[in-house]
Amino acid sequence: MAIQIKDLEQLKVMRRAGLLVGQTLQILKENIKAGMTTDALDAIASANIKRGGGTSNFLGYHGFPRTICVSINDEIVHGIPGPRVIQDGDIVSIDCGAIIEGWHGDAAFSIGIGTIDPENQKMMDVCEESMWRGIAAGSLNARLSDIGHAIESYINSQGKYGILREYGGHGIGTEMHQEPHVLNFGRKGNGPTIIPGMALAIEPMITRGSEKTKVLGDDWTVVSTDGSYGAHFENSYVICPDGKPFVLTALDGGRERLGAVGVEISDLLS
Ligand code: MG
Ligand code: MG
Repeated sequence: MAIQIKDLEQLKVMRRAGLLVGQTLQILKENIKAGMTTDALDAIASANIKRGGGTSNFLGYHGFPRTICVSINDEIVHGIPGPRVIQDGDIVSIDCGAIIEGWHGDAAFSIGIGTIDPENQKMMDVCEESMWRGIAAGSLNARLSDIGHAIESYINSQGKYGILREYGGHGIGTEMHQEPHVLNFGRKGNGPTIIPGMALAIEPMITRGSEKTKVLGDDWTVVSTDGSYGAHFENSYVICPDGKPFVLTALDGGRERLGAVGVEISDLLS
């Protein structure tokens, strides 16, 4: 299937969806604390998406029963909110999406609760920076595999981490998951050329140990097979008609973090 190309008017709606996702994640970041249940986080996200005029794209997705994914410690992605209580020292990854007028946004972050192992903080910092490096590498006229190459190269330069193989980024637009699949590893110079109107969700998932995972009996929660803790960061970005990127799910459009690696964002969606 061809990669969906969006025009500026469509991208303006996608920015509204992405901004709602970014704002919802920001509220979760500000409210998450030890002692609360993951269901309470889900309720906050659900209410905020509704308040912003959106609907959840996770709820009901292949039967997924909640609005966000909450994955703790050795759970890397796709954890289902429920009665589990967040503890001091936990590493919590939250993934959230929303739809506005048929257009999707998708983003995620990991955060440490209270006092955490500094090596877990470093893992999260490495994962987040690799996401920004991946977005920066996926600039106009780059090849798709340049993204995964940049992500993997950065992670490997920072230490020994497992990069999940079975999961990756994806195209996004009128569906949450579209072509192309975006690997978080690989060689440069392969795959489609990145052109204006392409929107991609970039989402490295790493552990402090093995890249091997299994799915729990709930059919969703992905855990590391060796029990090592993981991190997951995600943003959805687009190449605008002016050839510059814009991060649809970042509150500032990616200005600060892409600027730090020398990439200027588009003004067309601000
Ligand atoms: Mg996601
Ligand atoms: Mg995604």
